[in-house]
Amino acid sequence: MRLILLGPPGAGKGTQAQRLVERHGIVQLSTGDMLRAAVKAGTEVGLKAKAVMDAGQLVSDEIVVGVVADRIEQPDCARGFILDGFPRTVPQAEALDKMLASKGLGLDAVIELKVDEEALVARMENRVKETIAAGGNPRADDNPDAFRKRMAEYREKTAPLSAYYASVGELKVVDGMQSIDAVSTAIDAILSAAVG
Ligand code: AMP
Repeated sequence: MRLILLGPPGAGKGTQAQRLVERHGIVQLSTGDMLRAAVKAGTEVGLKAKAVMDAGQLVSDEIVVGVVADRIEQPDCARGFILDGFPRTVPQAEALDKMLASKGLGLDAVIELKVDEEALVARMENRVKETIAAGGNPRADDNPDAFRKRMAEYREKTAPLSAYYASVGELKVVDGMQSIDAVSTAIDAILSAAVG
């Protein structure tokens, strides 16, 4: 199963991807997690990406597509994967199409989680509070300025992907304002219809 989870920052893509990993035993490919790991490890990619990420802007298509292309070659991706946070631009979606087509593969579903913008800010603030309460460090880009920038990037560069995938009949929209369980149930229904 190859699946894309689309949606604005804080829509619940990561949470739902983790549930799908548990239920279906396929891997979650979060470009945000991969880039944060690269920043932590101080790799060349990490050094290039850090300031851009901290400001809430998108890392270049070239860097992100390179990271994903390497990752999907790993053996654990052979059974399928959930893309969480990728693609985020039309050129990234086109690059993904090419990568998959070169292996004779396609996507089983593209699922967009729809959430109101005010709810997203509240979710981000909660995530910061919970992380601090648990003794952790909040993400550098979970602050009001960077979050506003992330939303603007989403509207300008990522939202057009809905039309891109709708035009090829792959897009399914789920109401992301529902409870986590209800969203999972809706996603499962879509996947059963798509892959049986
Ligand atoms: P996320 O964890 O998905 O919210 O991603 C955190 C940050 O990583 C984003 O705000 C971007 O700076 C960067 N990033 C993650 N995925 C991508 C992508 N597909 N394209 C460009 N930048 C990305």
